[in-house]
Amino acid sequence: MLRAILSKLRIASRVGGRPDRVSILLPFLIISIGLGVLAWRSYTLSVRTEEGSKALARQYAGYAAEITASRVDAAARAEMSLVSDEWQQIEKRIDKPTFGSLGAWIAQHDWIVDAIYVPDDDPASSIYGTEAATGKSKKEVRLTREFFTATGSIRYTYSPQRLLATPTVQTAIRQQIPAKDRRAGTMPVQQAADVTLVSGESEGYRELTDGFAAVSALAPPLSSFAVRAAVRTSYGTTGWENQRVLSLWVSLLALVLLAIGALLALRGMSKEAETMKLRGALIANVSHELRTPLSMIRLGAETLKRGKLKDKERQDIEDQILREVLLLSHLVENVLDVARIQNQSTRALAFTPVHPRDLIGNLLTTYESWIRSKGFTCTVQIDETIGEQMWDRDSVSRALLNLIDNAIKYSADEKAIEVILRQTSEYIVIEVKDRGVGIGGNDLTKIFDPYYRAQFSDTTTRRGAGLGLTLVQQIVASHGGKVEVESQAGSGSTFRLMFPRDLAGDPAESASFGRPREAF
Ligand code: ADP
Repeated sequence: MLRAILSKLRIASRVGGRPDRVSILLPFLIISIGLGVLAWRSYTLSVRTEEGSKALARQYAGYAAEITASRVDAAARAEMSLVSDEWQQIEKRIDKPTFGSLGAWIAQHDWIVDAIYVPDDDPASSIYGTEAATGKSKKEVRLTREFFTATGSIRYTYSPQRLLATPTVQTAIRQQIPAKDRRAGTMPVQQAADVTLVSGESEGYRELTDGFAAVSALAPPLSSFAVRAAVRTSYGTTGWENQRVLSLWVSLLALVLLAIGALLALRGMSKEAETMKLRGALIANVSHELRTPLSMIRLGAETLKRGKLKDKERQDIEDQILREVLLLSHLVENVLDVARIQNQSTRALAFTPVHPRDLIGNLLTTYESWIRSKGFTCTVQIDETIGEQMWDRDSVSRALLNLIDNAIKYSADEKAIEVILRQTSEYIVIEVKDRGVGIGGNDLTKIFDPYYRAQFSDTTTRRGAGLGLTLVQQIVASHGGKVEVESQAGSGSTFRLMFPRDLAGDPAESASFGRPREAF
């Protein structure tokens, strides 16, 4: 991913100039720094708020545990004094407490297990009562308690767990005063602590993943029990709900979006730069190529006008003018066609049935004298079995003409051109071979680029705007085909136009390949 981004930046940097890049990237850099500062600020703020809410949760849990523990103690004490008061009432109502009245007293209080009443006047006639067998756990902790009455004393065994489960004690536990924020907003901690009675936990604070818990022991005789209050904070979680995590992710997302924006801007800029480069090349190349023939024509015309020329001189000048006009129209046609195909002009190609051999024959006949005048011989090799193809006759002719023009331009002493028409299982191939200067390895990949001209192409003897092969490639591509080139510097070139076979109109494929013959 990082490598892809870096390579994109490199591409963009190759195309756009350094100052352009800086001017595009600077605003993004400034926004990124601003965003970074904002992200850092919001992060530190949420860390601070988180710490504050943790401290608050700890404090609140401590209060809740302590207050609830003292309330529970008071409620337990109240329950115990209530039972002794009730017994005093019973003693007042009846002369002598009986086994039945002791049993009824025990039965009224779920948490009392058994009791013994010892009268002061006759300890030998003590009465003992126990709760009805209820199947309650024998494993539960039991404690004893004693109180004195008007006529004797009561000693009873009770279950502290059951005492703590009585409604009085439970009400004391539930009596939570919710924490309230004095300001209108909500607090970053739970509004009421989760309070539970626990046994066997030591007093103190425990940090939870999402808050704090405080444990406060009850007073004797319930000291083996404690109240545990837990308060959760809204920052305690590690997921999306955590403000710190959230602010980090939001900042990261903003930075990623910004980076994408910067990349898109750079890409747009590189495209723009590419267009500018092409435009520049068009103006530089084409204007030069237009000016040369125009000034030659003007010069020729002026000389003709001055008159007093011998027939031979006049003839030469007329030939010169004609040659320059032909060159000029060839160039203008190329420029216009490239632009038209590049802009996908509405002038669609007119695909009609074309006999490739006729197309080649007609073209060579038309340009025969021109090719001869350059001192070239041209041989053709035609596979006569190739049938009609659905081609745009004019544009394929133009492509072939460009190849022949190049073969002539880029040849030196060996002035021979070969045109071959053959077929493979997939393609109809038109090949143009020359024995000219050839193309170096580095240039081979670039010669189809618009306005590209190889280094050796000096502008005086080998004139051109670097558009011929671009057009050739566009034409073949618009027929669904491709162009191949084989060449080495110094040993000639072979260009292959490969059109997909129009199988419908094609006779059976055969290997009958015409013998090479001199075209002219
Ligand atoms: P132009 O001929 O106007 O320069 P082209 O697009 O036709 O433009 O060709 C691009 C380049 O490819 C030429 O400048 C030349 O360097 C190279 N080239 C094309 N055809 C040949 C060839 N037959 N032999 C050697 N080089 C060639």
